[in-house]
Amino acid sequence: MYQLPAISYGYDQLSKYISKDIMELHHSKHHQTYVDKLNAALDQAPALKERPLDSLLSDIDSLPVAVQTAIRNHGGGHYNHSLFWQWMSPNGGGEPTGELAAKLIEKYGSFQSFVDEFTTKSLGVFGSGWAWLQPDMEILTTPNQDTPIMLGKAAPLLGLDVWEHAYYLDYKNKRDDYINAWWHVVDWDFVAQRLEQA
Ligand code: MN
Repeated sequence: MYQLPAISYGYDQLSKYISKDIMELHHSKHHQTYVDKLNAALDQAPALKERPLDSLLSDIDSLPVAVQTAIRNHGGGHYNHSLFWQWMSPNGGGEPTGELAAKLIEKYGSFQSFVDEFTTKSLGVFGSGWAWLQPDMEILTTPNQDTPIMLGKAAPLLGLDVWEHAYYLDYKNKRDDYINAWWHVVDWDFVAQRLEQA
């Protein structure tokens, strides 16, 4: 059975940029629902419980039709959100250093150009979805809870949830204000760690 992972900082610790109310609702209600519905889907196809979640998500088309959509949506939701909490930190923000910074500058010309392009692509997601930075420094977007490994791509280095539930309470319809605020909490150390492991 999958369980809701704990967050390593308090719901109120990002509150300069993301309120305690959003963090609490997003983690304890939205993410919990993905976990519960993923578990319910796996109860319908118990053989799949033997396989790690990333193996299921990388191989969605081969899953039993009866549970495919539920695993895509709720398994994807659990996978994405489990990472999302780790991509933020009360000590986040600023700029990456080392290899990550060098690769971003090589691809985009400057860190700011990368931020601008990632922001533009995040704003361009129609409806609910995510924006991603991949280990090859490509920026991708996906709809709903789809995740890069469903597309045959590598696991992402960084991802941004642009569902309205991630920002509406604080920013209403102003997704751009949310994204601009979110850069202040990005945990670049965790992103760099994922690049090393990629
Ligand atoms: Mn979300």
